[in-house]
Amino acid sequence: MIRVQAVALDSLGAALQLTPGTELLTVNGRDLEDFLDWEFLTADDQFVLKARLPSGEEIEYDVERPEGLPMGVTLEPPRIRRCANHCDFCFVDGNPEGMRQALYIRDDDYRLSFRYGNFATLTNLKPWDLERIVEYRLSPLYVSVHATDPVVRRWLLRNPEAPDIIPQLRWFAERGIAVHTQVVMVPGINDGPQLVRTLTDLYAVGPAVLSVSVVPVALTEFSKHALVRQPTRDECHAALATVDDFAARAVTDRGMPWCYGADDLYLQADLPLPPAAWYGDFEQRENGVGAVRYLQTRIEGARTALESENWRDKRIGIITGTAMGPLLPQIVADLTRMTAAHFEILALENTLFGPSVTTAGLLPGKAVLAALQDRRDLDLALVPAESVNDDLLFMDDMAAHDLASRVPMPVRLSYDFADALEEKLESWNVGMQPSGGQS
Ligand code: SF4
Repeated sequence: MIRVQAVALDSLGAALQLTPGTELLTVNGRDLEDFLDWEFLTADDQFVLKARLPSGEEIEYDVERPEGLPMGVTLEPPRIRRCANHCDFCFVDGNPEGMRQALYIRDDDYRLSFRYGNFATLTNLKPWDLERIVEYRLSPLYVSVHATDPVVRRWLLRNPEAPDIIPQLRWFAERGIAVHTQVVMVPGINDGPQLVRTLTDLYAVGPAVLSVSVVPVALTEFSKHALVRQPTRDECHAALATVDDFAARAVTDRGMPWCYGADDLYLQADLPLPPAAWYGDFEQRENGVGAVRYLQTRIEGARTALESENWRDKRIGIITGTAMGPLLPQIVADLTRMTAAHFEILALENTLFGPSVTTAGLLPGKAVLAALQDRRDLDLALVPAESVNDDLLFMDDMAAHDLASRVPMPVRLSYDFADALEEKLESWNVGMQPSGGQS
């Protein structure tokens, strides 16, 4: 059973008089367990829906969907599938006390992997899950592999029950399910020969493994440092050499690199990033792979709007995490040339997780407030849109509107700078809604 949270006007849901609180029971006699069932089973033009209204009355609707009319039904959020692993580098263990409750949940949910690109380990799949992944064609999935040697993978996941990943991926491949994969590189465990084995095994699965990224492990000051450490510069260097070997082979065989190092891996290795064309469709940019080149591409695409003189001599502060701090000057140089504005990069240390958490998306609102509250010299501040959730809350529960009301300049949430600078300043209210770009 799933429950309706909201119904859009001018939708099929409204025409059926579904209301918030309505329980959706079955479609064509099949029980509805979650949003996947709802979306896939109601995709047909005709179906029979059984629902229980908030009054308790049960109704069976013989639905014929008029062409182009959306269902318009928002469901209550799904119960997140919990993770069965206990990785030493787990992000959840790295969370200090006092944050949003959701941040203490270890999720490992293939449904969110398909829908939002969250990485899942596939270690908690039941036969029923396997069937629906195939039936609903949940492809591509995003899979955390880490290592293909079963012993090493089980050690990394701290899960002696974790199934062998390669047979699992082959099973999916044979049924038309493709995957993007990642290896979180833990030095001394799955780098070196293990990384070579992992990439060799993944490549051998064939084209159903669409890509693999190698991401250096990210730790916080609360992580289990006695058990896991950050890679050294030389270890990152060596990992990128392995990545390059496999990418060169893939370019020859498949016409695309297939194997990518995360931007952070280049940063920690002190090596330049590949050009934008290397990343194709930037399919792992949300995973920090090609993110810098993606931004540069977006900015170039907005060149006409950015060159419109709206920003000449304006002072614009760019909030970011310390990871992007050293990479942003290349991007800001492009922005400066196009807009004639003066940009200042404010690369903030993460006061919530500790300085080793460097990504902009995890910045707490308090750190942003502290950086901006006395900056009367700025005409505008750009804040990473990915650092707030759908309710516009930062990691520490500060509301974006609260931040905007406490700083002396307009604040704009931005994914890629171009989204925030295409419109001139005077046309905005207090622009705290993310304005497009990545979603
Ligand atoms: S797979 Fe590992 S890192 Fe991910 S949530 Fe589970 S324990 Fe944490």
